[in-house]
This record gives sequence, structure tokens and C-alpha cells, in this order.
Amino acid sequence: MTIPLTAALTAASLLFIQPLGSAAASPAPIQRKEAVKAQAAAPNPFDQRRELYDKLSIVTQVPWHWIAAVDQYERTMSKVKPKARPMLGSTVGVFIEQEQWAGILNPDVEDSAPVSIRWFNGMGRDGDGNGQADRKNDFDLLYSLVNRISSYGSTDEDFSIGLWEYYQSSRSVQRIQQFSRIYSAFGQLDLFEHAFPVPLGANYSYRDTWGAGRGWGGRRSHEGTDIFAAHGVPVRSTCYGIVEIKGWNPFGGWRIGIRDLNNHYHYYAHLSGFDKAIGVGDVVKPGQVVGWVGSSGYGKPGTQGKFPPHLHYGVYSDRGMIEWAFDPYPMLRKWEQTERAKKRSKK
Ligand SMILES: [Zn+2]
Repeated sequence: MTIPLTAALTAASLLFIQPLGSAAASPAPIQRKEAVKAQAAAPNPFDQRRELYDKLSIVTQVPWHWIAAVDQYERTMSKVKPKARPMLGSTVGVFIEQEQWAGILNPDVEDSAPVSIRWFNGMGRDGDGNGQADRKNDFDLLYSLVNRISSYGSTDEDFSIGLWEYYQSSRSVQRIQQFSRIYSAFGQLDLFEHAFPVPLGANYSYRDTWGAGRGWGGRRSHEGTDIFAAHGVPVRSTCYGIVEIKGWNPFGGWRIGIRDLNNHYHYYAHLSGFDKAIGVGDVVKPGQVVGWVGSSGYGKPGTQGKFPPHLHYGVYSDRGMIEWAFDPYPMLRKWEQTERAKKRSKK
């Protein structure tokens, strides 16, 4: 099933981020340091990053959730293009081309001297104040990017304009706005837990149907997993995310699309209805009910009953210019097992 492209960038969408509760929910820096010490063997990357974002936020006046969102967006792009975008820092996900860092006309492509980089209009900056604009230093790397983007200002609107100027893509701007909203709503970075899309106590069945129907009269392959369950069984978000699309689609029927921080788009189709309290732009958590299993689709709005009730669940990975479906079946199995184990340990 295809995903309708999201609306083009408009002035309204630039403003769609509303400041939610700021860093209030995050623990004080000292407590966080102690938490790191307690498990000194393996420092938590989320704690390391959060410390970096908080420091950068003080220096740049940009709210930490914007910084976190830019870094996470860059990380997801590097994950899908690991060859073109090798990891430069140790915990930061930002990638900046060498020529962009030094300045296109800079004869020294490996330049790390802040003054000459500036002279050649490069992006590289010395964030940590050691006199070097080091492309492989986490702080310098992230500082340089945030510095470039916030050159229009650090309000939500100004930052969005800076994002547009830098990425020249409404998709990138929308993703970073969505990530920023998720971070600011939950007040933390550790938001990668998952849940199975229907309650484990319900009667349901599913199998690996990836690509089923391929080769039938040039039809597109089946992009997702069908979970068969009775009409009205709750459908739950599998992730922390933000509602990107909600409404009718001729094939998917009543469907809802949720974007997570891995830049994956989770698509739930053929619902009988939605939770009315949830709208586009709202954040959701794993296990939260978003709608109910149904058999809607294959016709005009409201059409149902053309096939047995089931949840069509699809996952798409944003690769910058295109979105790529991948088989959710192995993940579903994993989430189901994890949840089952958790339930058992609680008993
Ligand atoms: Zn399906």
C-alpha cells in the first residue's frame, strides 16, 4: 500500500511545533552524573548525549529538544546511508562533508583552523574552545551544525527557517519538527521501547506474509503483516511517536500513520475506528490504544466488510528522498516475546 506524501511545507507547518513543557522532566545534571557512575562499566549513551545537548543549549540558546531532534535526524540518515555518511564523532550522529566543513574553496580540505575555515565560509566551528574546529569531535560537530541552523534565530519559527535553508527539503524539516515534539513531550531521550500492536490477551493470529502476491499480474507485493483479530480488538501504538496521518484512504480504509525516532513510519490500516482524542501532531507511547480492528477499505469512505477483519501493519523507513517498506514480521515476533516475558515476570 502506498503512503500519500505529506503536505508541502507551508508557513503554517513551519509553526506547527508548539513549545511543550521544556526540560522540566529531565533530572538535574548532578543526579544524572551519579546515575552514570552507578553503572560505570558502560556509560549510557542517552546520558552522555543529554549532557552534551544541555551544554550546547546554554551556548546556543537553542532548546535541547531541537538539538536532540537534529542530531537524531542526522543519525537516522547515517544509518540508512552508512557508506556515504560514516560516523564522525563518538556519540553524535551528525555528518558534515569535509568540503562543507572547511569551505568549498579552501585549498586545505582538512583545515581545522577556525579563522581560515570562516574565511572560506566553511561550517566548521570550535565549540569546545580548544582552538581547533575538529570535525571528529562530538561537541565541535554538533555545535557547528546547530550554529549554522540557528543563524536565523533560536525561536521555533526561526529555527524551522534555518532547517529549511540547510536541508532544502520540507521532509527533513517536518521530521526534525516531529522529533523535537516527541522529545519535548516526554522530556527524555530514551524512547525506543516497543509494544505489540494488539493486546496479547486478545485472540489473534498472524504469519509472515511479506511479499505475498508478488508476480500476480504485475501487482505490487504485500508490504506489511496482516494480524487477524475480531472486530473491535484494540490497536495499540508499537512505539513512542507522533501521529503523522489519520483518516480515510481508499485502500487502507480508516488508517493511522505514526512516525518514531528511528524515522520509521508505522502504518495501521483497515481500522473500524480511532481513539477520538488522538489527532495529527499528537504524541503516543508504546501500548497506547489508537483505534480498533476492523475491515474498512477498498472503496468510498466508510466501506467495510469486503474482507475479514484484520489489522494491516506496515513499517516504512525514511531514506531521505524515498520511503522504503520493510518486513515488520521479525520485529512483531520480537515485541510479542518481549512483552510476554515482561508479563510473566510481573506475575
Ligand atoms: Zn495487509
